[in-house]
Amino acid sequence: MRIPCPFCGHRDVREFSYLGDATVERPDPNRADALDRFVDYVYVRDNPAGPHQEFWYHGAGCQSWLVVSRDTRTHEVSAAEPASKARTIG
Ligand SMILES: [Zn+2]
Repeated sequence: MRIPCPFCGHRDVREFSYLGDATVERPDPNRADALDRFVDYVYVRDNPAGPHQEFWYHGAGCQSWLVVSRDTRTHEVSAAEPASKARTIG
């Protein structure tokens, strides 16, 4: 599998580390059900078959965090972008 790093170009997957699901969002700690939401946030993950967005770290390259769009059935990577641009933090 090759990942199209936006800074380095197409690189072998062995240069990257997988972090996990890029679709989960940190819950609001002020909600009444915050504990249940944090348990889900930390421990519960879907196991999708098909298109998915994942965090990958290019440790043997530019050392950037990326959000990679990958089909989990075929490992086809359709896009990769810097994590800082993929979602709004705050
Ligand atoms: Zn890179």
